[in-house]
Amino acid sequence: PTASFGAKHYHSIIRESEKPKGETNKHEFKAETKMLLDIVAKSLYSENEVFVRELISNASDAIEKFRYIANTSEPDQIVELDRKCEIHIETNKQDMKLVIQDRGIGMTKDELIDSLGTIAKSGSKNFLSQLKDSGSIDATNIIGQFGVGFYSVFMCASHVDVYTKSSSPGAIGYKWSSEGTGSFEIQECDDVDVGTKIVIQLKPECREYADEDRIRNVVKKYSNFVGSPIFLNGNQL
Ligand code: ADP
Ligand code: MG
Repeated sequence: PTASFGAKHYHSIIRESEKPKGETNKHEFKAETKMLLDIVAKSLYSENEVFVRELISNASDAIEKFRYIANTSEPDQIVELDRKCEIHIETNKQDMKLVIQDRGIGMTKDELIDSLGTIAKSGSKNFLSQLKDSGSIDATNIIGQFGVGFYSVFMCASHVDVYTKSSSPGAIGYKWSSEGTGSFEIQECDDVDVGTKIVIQLKPECREYADEDRIRNVVKKYSNFVGSPIFLNGNQL
């Protein structure tokens, strides 16, 4: 089947047609987030492909949350009701980029700051406490054991841009950017689709994740539990 985002729209997802505007606000990551990021970025975890699983699972969660709201709200409370339930992935080998987009619930500015700036996730908290307990930095084992959610992207990303717009009516779009070190930046942004689009600039040593076949294999390995169709470069997997 073809992508129902619409071919024209779909083929632009990697192009970053969003338009950031106004001032850029810089936020420091919380101390424990910095610690986690530092470990994640330095880890030589051989199964670093799990970051793809984490991002797909977040996209899938966002779609499920959206479905729930859509089923419990008046139809006019929801923007673009019927195009929601797909996850789109695009690879660009030449630019070493990987993009994952969902049309799920999206994030407001506060949610963006809270969710991608602090460690709410229990897995990440377990990760840190385990690390303190063990006293050693056997990070690789711990990453595998707990998963570190969104932050795992920084095993492979040198830079991440997140474009997001909440599905609440009248929501504003935002661009979140970070290199996964001390801070992240947020800017208002026009032409953002409802939902979330994550643009990953891969580290050279992780360029394999800009390869369509490699991503197809990773997705097939982990996506059994995903309730939404996944498209890779426009083709349903
Ligand atoms: P978890 O999924 O266990 O909550 P993550 O680190 O994977 O932890 O994600 C942190 C939070 O960031 C999520 O709980 C969610 O609020 C937000 N988030 C991440 N990805 C998305 C997305 N694609 N759409 C909407 N919200 C997201
Ligand atoms: Mg998650």
